[in-house]
Amino acid sequence: MKANEKQLIYTLLKTADAYESGYTRDKFKTEPVFEDDEIVGSSPTMTQNINPTMTQNESPAMTDNNGLSLDELNAKILRCTRCGLARTRNNVVPGMGVEHPEVLVVGEGPGHDEDMQGLPFVGKAGVLLDRMLAAIGLDRKTNCYIANIVKCRPPENRNPFPDEQAACFSFLEAQIHILKPKMILCMGKIAIEKITGQSIAITQKHGEFFDYNGIPVMPTYHPSALLRNEELKRPAWEDLKKFKKRLDEIRTN
Ligand code: URA
Repeated sequence: MKANEKQLIYTLLKTADAYESGYTRDKFKTEPVFEDDEIVGSSPTMTQNINPTMTQNESPAMTDNNGLSLDELNAKILRCTRCGLARTRNNVVPGMGVEHPEVLVVGEGPGHDEDMQGLPFVGKAGVLLDRMLAAIGLDRKTNCYIANIVKCRPPENRNPFPDEQAACFSFLEAQIHILKPKMILCMGKIAIEKITGQSIAITQKHGEFFDYNGIPVMPTYHPSALLRNEELKRPAWEDLKKFKKRLDEIRTN
């Protein structure tokens, strides 16, 4: 069975369960990561489930991340076919950075350059992001990890659709669980809305702190927005200073 089929069945069962029981389980619990069944035997059309990631009887909390390392998780992400973006991508972009980051930076999804290189934020917006991070002593080579809400490029750089975000989000949840960042910086509306599960006007809420499972999360303007509108650079800089102040407090505690 394909990973996206398992995901669909899981989502249906979860919805039915919530409807039946009137209880929706904690939305911040790590979701299971499904993968395509291995192909065994000599016939390439014969598929058997020899190593399912999770059985229906296991609760997500029990399987947690299945003890996956970041490399193992990212290898799963690289094979993902959960949504239609898998058909148009050139490369999957799981993320990049250090294994024990102080800060996780979350963007929206890969653009053209990222899709070509398989790395996050490597185009014009990425150059600006690196400068913004450097201004507060952060760097993807030493103390940050950079990932996106969706790991594959939406065609024509459109916003990722809600079903694409939903299909991909458990990968980010699993990354956060493994990386255990001290703080999360969300670049733009899509990132903060998906992380918090709230509808958020970035013009009003940039620079404010939210919470993700005990981790302080701040949204600021996406670097692409800053490239389009210079006037947003000043407020974004104020956000970054606030972010650094809080990080320094956490560092000294
Ligand atoms: N914009 C994003 O949100 N993410 C990237 O990786 C690149 C551009």
